[in-house]
Amino acid sequence: TLAAENDEQIFRSRYPAVSVPDLTLPEFVLQDAELYADKVAFVEAVTGKSYTYSEVVRDTRRFAKALRSLGLRKGRVVVVVLPNVAEYGIVALGIMAAGGVFSGANPTAHSSEIKKQVEAADAKLIVTSGPIYEKVKNLGIPIIVLGEERVESAMNWKELLQAADRAGGNNDFTNNDIHQNDLCALPFSSGTTGMSKGVMLTHRNLVANLCSTLFNVGPELLGQVTTLGLIPFFHIYGITGICCATLRNKGKVVVMNRFELRTFLNALIKQEVTFAPIVPPIILALVKNPIVDEFDLSKLKLRAVMTAAAPLAPELLAAFEKKFPDVQVQEAYGLTEHSCITLTHGDPAKPNGISKKNSVGFILPNLEIKFIDPETGRSLPKNTPGEICVRSQCVMQGYFKNEEETSRTIDKNGWLHTGDIGFIDDDGDVFIVDRIKELIKYKGFQVAPAELEAILLSHPSVEDAAVVPLPDEEAGEIPAACVVINKNSKESEQDIINFVASNVANYKKVRALQFVDTIPKSPSGKILRRYGFPFLVVRFEVE
Ligand code: AMP
Repeated sequence: TLAAENDEQIFRSRYPAVSVPDLTLPEFVLQDAELYADKVAFVEAVTGKSYTYSEVVRDTRRFAKALRSLGLRKGRVVVVVLPNVAEYGIVALGIMAAGGVFSGANPTAHSSEIKKQVEAADAKLIVTSGPIYEKVKNLGIPIIVLGEERVESAMNWKELLQAADRAGGNNDFTNNDIHQNDLCALPFSSGTTGMSKGVMLTHRNLVANLCSTLFNVGPELLGQVTTLGLIPFFHIYGITGICCATLRNKGKVVVMNRFELRTFLNALIKQEVTFAPIVPPIILALVKNPIVDEFDLSKLKLRAVMTAAAPLAPELLAAFEKKFPDVQVQEAYGLTEHSCITLTHGDPAKPNGISKKNSVGFILPNLEIKFIDPETGRSLPKNTPGEICVRSQCVMQGYFKNEEETSRTIDKNGWLHTGDIGFIDDDGDVFIVDRIKELIKYKGFQVAPAELEAILLSHPSVEDAAVVPLPDEEAGEIPAACVVINKNSKESEQDIINFVASNVANYKKVRALQFVDTIPKSPSGKILRRYGFPFLVVRFEVE
């Protein structure tokens, strides 16, 4: 897999290339849906509410038509603020089929955080649900609320779909001017530095990612897989890796909107889930929590769990394998800027399917990877850790309205610089060893230090601040702050912790904080994050 190209050490997949059909994402994932018309595509684990494939196709078309009749123009962003619900995939695909751009927001976010996303995305419309409506009602753009009931002056989803039926006319997916190179999604990610930014993804980016990810799913698996839909669908791992991948394979998604261990295990057993994409903190709960012993695990139909979004500790993997000997653990690595999965373990039933334990897997078909020295930019040979760079049709078009960050992240030869450090071994298995970008990952969720630093600095007594990750067994990492506090101020560490907590979503809260005399900075004023901040043992309770 090694090719010398202008003296560069470029690694490619050990599998042959796969072709990427020229379809939009909704066309691709709903292709042949009529053959599975009565099969359930989405079912909510708790309520039992479900949609069959024919209903998904019908409502995706109706919603796309409704959006067009509302005047949604091609390329305009619709922000979706929803927990995982049975309609989520229909909403996202409907926006894309109408030519719009789907931008998922975290429904647990603070309303000021959603406002930032709406403004940064220049969004024209919000889709939400009744319980979240209060958070978004004053953002100044039209709102569609899911459900049967009308909420204040918002438009109602059901009524919109009915109006689309009355309007008549053709509403085929293919009956408009949407092409594969048009944008279809704008998830948010802070990338290697700074604030959260819109990641511009096209239909082709996502279709290409699915073709690579699903390369060895044979016809025998079509219609056979039941996937757990617990990872938030606003995140690329949820919408591409779970919803779209499962629809493409005509499987069933069991939709859950929050993690609660008993509900989770009940859903796995009752719905006969065969494949569960999760994150390391859930593996931890499955290994350590005594609640698991209340369940008869022999009833599980689970064949595999996929864990991604954050590192999985080797001891945790070993403990999980001991407790669940029949469940294959497939680690995977990906990032929003690369349309989701980038490296993965394959199907253990296939030759070479599974990579070595504690590796994040092999290079997917169609991708090129290199490992560079972050100082010199020189590409490195195998078995030598360097910054992972990836080049493929899945690389984002750039950050929305941010050329500077785009050119810092994608170089002139098309390489996406991930900010992660890893190496590839003699067999083509890749190991992640470190992260050099600023990003903090709390239970797999992105936390941008720059964002928390800006909030800290908005406090009148805070003179300077730096936020860094601190290792944590349960969450992987927690955001920890070093703060230079004004000498005359009366605030305690806990006061500052509470101040941040009142301005951000739960997963972004600063959970450890220390007052310091100075923040270490480079001559140009950049915080020296690798300096090893003087932490500290005190963790704070945050509500
Ligand atoms: P996101 O864009 O939110 O998916 O975050 C992507 C980042 O999560 C990557 O750049 C990595 O830093 C981290 N990440 C994802 N998967 C893994 C993994 N399997 N092991 C370690 N870090 C990971």
